[in-house]
Amino acid sequence: MNRQLTNADRDAHGVVTPVPFFRHGLTSTDAEKIAQVLSTPFLTSGQVGRGVEAQLCEFFGVSDAKLTNSWTNGAVAVLLALGIGPGDEVIVPAMTFIASANTVELVGATPVFVDVDPSTQLINLNEVKSAVSPRTKAVIPVHLYGQMVDVGALRAIVGSDIRIIEDCAHAFESTLGSDRPGAHSDAAIFSFYATKNVTCGEGGAIISNDSELMSNVRQTVLHGMSAGADRRFEGALYRHWEMETLGTKANLPDLLAALLPEQIETVETKRDIREGLVARYDSAFSSVANLETVAPVANGVSAHHLYPIGTPKGARDRVLYELNAAGVGTTVNYRAVHTMTYYERKYQIAPDAIPNAFDWGERTLSLPLFPGLTTREQDRVIEVVTSVFANLDGSEGPRREQ
Ligand SMILES: *Cc1c(COP(=O)(O)O)cnc(C)c1O
Repeated sequence: MNRQLTNADRDAHGVVTPVPFFRHGLTSTDAEKIAQVLSTPFLTSGQVGRGVEAQLCEFFGVSDAKLTNSWTNGAVAVLLALGIGPGDEVIVPAMTFIASANTVELVGATPVFVDVDPSTQLINLNEVKSAVSPRTKAVIPVHLYGQMVDVGALRAIVGSDIRIIEDCAHAFESTLGSDRPGAHSDAAIFSFYATKNVTCGEGGAIISNDSELMSNVRQTVLHGMSAGADRRFEGALYRHWEMETLGTKANLPDLLAALLPEQIETVETKRDIREGLVARYDSAFSSVANLETVAPVANGVSAHHLYPIGTPKGARDRVLYELNAAGVGTTVNYRAVHTMTYYERKYQIAPDAIPNAFDWGERTLSLPLFPGLTTREQDRVIEVVTSVFANLDGSEGPRREQ
């Protein structure tokens, strides 16, 4: 049975106002920045992007950064630059966005899925230890929802021969102790996709302290060519280029890079706003029976990219449906990667062979969380969620058997 709409769902005119899952905060001031790039002769990767790369080096305290047109293409470029391919294994958590594993497949290597900690949903380092084999070339820890995996501890487990590539798609402004992303890994990769905390629509970045790796990455992000477009015409004289290695096409155009500097400058102020919203959700939901939240990581500051909750077994899809019916935007982050048809067919892993990731993936959904979420909108989300959970027991909705 559907939840009845109440006054809290309606505005002064009695109209039900939907609360979107996400609303970006870019404005006409940002359009100006794109217009400035349009007024120069050069549209693709050039001076603007190099400025952002310097800004990233400063923010993360690393020696090198390269902007990319997505996390995914950045990760493919890093894997190619590391020479990872057929016959190699890369350890990835089963609870993440599919891209973390897909990039491993795209270069012909084999993702080895490991389970997560059931309280934080972060990759379980003991499971990583057991998954290491003579073929293991890399691990991709994912800082899921904005909380950081202890990469220093991971390094101690895997040693220096196995590469660590951090998936920082949720964790631009996260810290763990005094560490930011990039402190203990070979490379850390960010996403500037439309809904991420820092965004230019589509985009990403690779940071690293390994100058040899980054010199290879500068080629694998651009077909393996020896010089980028802007450099080929340096001094107005055409210079021949070489191709020494196979690469992809992963560079970010200045048209999009122009949106990043101000967001990077203000990202920590916006994190404070996210933190305030999370505190309101946490306090409202602490008294809601059967509603689970993700445990905080000790000594960590979360980027609070998402606000996932857990429902009782079998109730998630009904909660999703009722929230959507009441106009509250939701997503699922994520159903476990090894349960996706492609992976299930290819590797024939039983869903419950990776039990924590599978269980959470069947029970989780995410609520609206973005700096522009108004108090009124958040109150509505809280009211709707509270009443949907209150009506869970004993109602005859479609309960999915696992
Ligand atoms: C968004 C996301 C990605 C992929 O980012 P793109 O920039 O869209 O390629 C990878 N990993 C995680 C955890 C993500 O959320």
